[in-house]
Amino acid sequence: MIPISFINPLSDEGKQIVIEDGGDLERIYDENTELIDTIYSIKAQEISDDSLIPKNYSDLVIKRVEWFVKRKGDPEYKHKKYAYLFNRKITKFDTIAFYILCQAIGIKFGPNSRESRAIVELQGYLTENRLEELLTSERREITQQILNNLIVQDRIRWTHLADLISSKKINMQDLVLKDGDVILDFEDFIEFFGDVIKKRQPEKMYNLFIGNRIKELIIIKMIMQKTEDYIKSVHQRANIIEPNPKLLKIADEVSEVLSKEIRHYSSFSGREAVKASPLNYDQFPPCIKKALEGIKSGGRNEVIVLFLTPFLSYSRLNPSVFRSNTTLKVSDADPDLNITRNEILPMIYESANRCNPPLFDDQPQEKININAKLGFGMHDDLSLQHEGETHWYTPMSCDKVKMNMPSLCKPDDICKRLKEINPLFYYIDQMKNKGQ
Ligand code: SF4
Repeated sequence: MIPISFINPLSDEGKQIVIEDGGDLERIYDENTELIDTIYSIKAQEISDDSLIPKNYSDLVIKRVEWFVKRKGDPEYKHKKYAYLFNRKITKFDTIAFYILCQAIGIKFGPNSRESRAIVELQGYLTENRLEELLTSERREITQQILNNLIVQDRIRWTHLADLISSKKINMQDLVLKDGDVILDFEDFIEFFGDVIKKRQPEKMYNLFIGNRIKELIIIKMIMQKTEDYIKSVHQRANIIEPNPKLLKIADEVSEVLSKEIRHYSSFSGREAVKASPLNYDQFPPCIKKALEGIKSGGRNEVIVLFLTPFLSYSRLNPSVFRSNTTLKVSDADPDLNITRNEILPMIYESANRCNPPLFDDQPQEKININAKLGFGMHDDLSLQHEGETHWYTPMSCDKVKMNMPSLCKPDDICKRLKEINPLFYYIDQMKNKGQ
């Protein structure tokens, strides 16, 4: 049987594990032979290199974070190196590591930090990956058990998921609703929609629209929300209680792993990749240089918001976006948003002011649209709290530029040599030629 806390460390079972352990933070860096023996007993685990084996709780916390960044960004990720994270034998140690991690981040960085958002995402991703590794029958059983624990009512009103919906963790479109109730069970589905689908196979229709997929989605997102709430509550308590120096040390180590690994995979994820570095006007393609002069006729919004904003932000922060599978956020490359505020936005705003008429004079709301295209939702300020509410738009291709804003595209010899694929490739090529 799968322990509930293996999937949801915030369950009563998970809390009980921490109570029984005694929560002695002084042992975080002490060698833990029980942990080491457990990992060596997991057959799927690669043990060829001693550094693959966490020796104490601190190592386990760091390995969790390292796994997350590598799994998302390393094209050469090797699952066997982290197999213990997906074996139920690790449950006790993993649950304690989860609490140490959340406490460290809550105390040192608070709930609105880049680190906190990464840890919430990590927990969701780990939950999803753990579920995927289970047998179908185990997966169904544990999903239902956790759902029963998380939601005590017979039926869930959609309003119970309001936090998840408003924080964009769940989309309304993913849910099947009947009079405000979220339909999850097969019996309810047939009761309410049986008449409508009578000519089709009900089970197929249920699996198509709901099945275990929606239940899993709900528990993953609820665990993420609860992780976020827990980090918030730790942060509030940290103002009253003196923080343990060992937790502060772990928080710094976690932050370092996140920065180092993300920088590595965003900048060097391909043979042809280029390092993120300050923008260099001289290496921009003709279309970008023209856009920076400001638009004198129609199409100002499109050029500034949809064309310049993605190009300048990716050129500066993540030029290798198309060469890696990583889905980075702006703050992964610019944690305090200083580069975005002091280098990228001023260039975009200057171009907007050079338009005729100046874009923000008659359309000030376009500043909000620019924030949205950078991934910070529809808000008038850039705030880490809102990051992720919208997607960070990637730069448009040359084909799209030609189709939607043909007056900007005046290909030069470099465009022709590069086969006119994407203005970002032009910039990368030129930066590499200049050794930057
Ligand atoms: S071919 Fe591409 S890079 Fe060159 S000017 Fe046109 S849109 Fe820009």
